[in-house]
Amino acid sequence: GLPPPELDAFDNIKVAVRVRPPNAQELARGDEHAVFVNESDFRQLVVKVPTGGGHTERHFNFHACLGPANRQQDVLGLCGITQLLDAALDGYNATVLCYGQTGSGKTYTMSGQEEAVLGDDCMDDSDDGIVTRALKYLFQQLEARSSGAGAPDGGGDPGGGCRYSLRVSVAEIYCEQVYDLIHFDKTPLQVRWDTSKGFFAANLTCKQCASLEHALQVLALAVRHRRVGSHEMNEKSSRSHSIFTVYIDCTPTRPDDHEYGITRYGKVSFVDLAGSERVKDSKSSGETLKETTTINRSLFMLGKVIAALADGAQGALVPYRESKLTKLLMDSLGGSSLSLLIACCSPSAAHVEETMNTLGYAARAK
Ligand code: ADP
Ligand code: MG
Repeated sequence: GLPPPELDAFDNIKVAVRVRPPNAQELARGDEHAVFVNESDFRQLVVKVPTGGGHTERHFNFHACLGPANRQQDVLGLCGITQLLDAALDGYNATVLCYGQTGSGKTYTMSGQEEAVLGDDCMDDSDDGIVTRALKYLFQQLEARSSGAGAPDGGGDPGGGCRYSLRVSVAEIYCEQVYDLIHFDKTPLQVRWDTSKGFFAANLTCKQCASLEHALQVLALAVRHRRVGSHEMNEKSSRSHSIFTVYIDCTPTRPDDHEYGITRYGKVSFVDLAGSERVKDSKSSGETLKETTTINRSLFMLGKVIAALADGAQGALVPYRESKLTKLLMDSLGGSSLSLLIACCSPSAAHVEETMNTLGYAARAK
């Protein structure tokens, strides 16, 4: 593959934390605030862990910590997502993953307020999540770069004078089964291996999107389909992973370009992971034992892959083949690809145990 892109101080795996504002229930109970972003250093997080009578402070360092005061429009910049998108436009693979317990803000961070995505004529875009903002950025860049004028920063960017094409797919993984969220069907897709493509979900719909509006329609459709499945099976959406992938093909069109006519294939995947809380006893939740074990197992295997990569492991030493999720993300995690894990958490002392689990998972990924 390609050598790692040269980006200033960009580790191949970055880890950010987002602490959401207290929700209505937490406010009504008068929960204490237990998770704080250091006001003078946004890379530091402090958690007050209760002990006996008082509490002890635990300190964490991450690439970025976003607190309740940070809005949706801050996320791309503070987490370095724009760099990931630029890399994808240049032919690299990138992944953004949201991890955390159910209710911690994963879907809000990734897809925004779903009512707005579903287009209940919301004029306000302040709640837009990462995917909508990323699509806007990508289409802006495609326009600027394909005009031949080069990137907005000038400097003879090789992107100037390219023919781009953008495609989108959306998959959901539930209990180690992969489903298509664009052409919604109850039949799971096979995961296959191909020497040139690596692992892929066979027959997963890949929609060519000529405009931002079209891409946003596909996103809305996938959100609606994920909800339908969720209504049929209680809480399914909090127990499934969704993977929204944008494929960007770029072919230089200027004959003087040294890569003239050679297509580069970049892609960026946005992964809204299943809730990280321990799935409770299968008897009480009406699940089969198989469901209960597979849900936690795939997050566990993802953690092992990311921790192995963070420790510098490569190739066969990275346990990609242990779950469908890590198989499908294999070419977008490690190697020359760039990844960002966003650990989402509640600010409340009532959730501090799950929050410490989430931060421990995130800390192993650094
Ligand atoms: P998850 O996907 O992790 O289960 P959600 O994203 O659905 O959690 O968030 C639960 C609720 O909290 C939603 O109603 C969402 O709108 C709200 N919420 C989450 N994060 C934020 C935030 N940073 N600012 C405002 N509201 C938020
Ligand atoms: Mg969710």
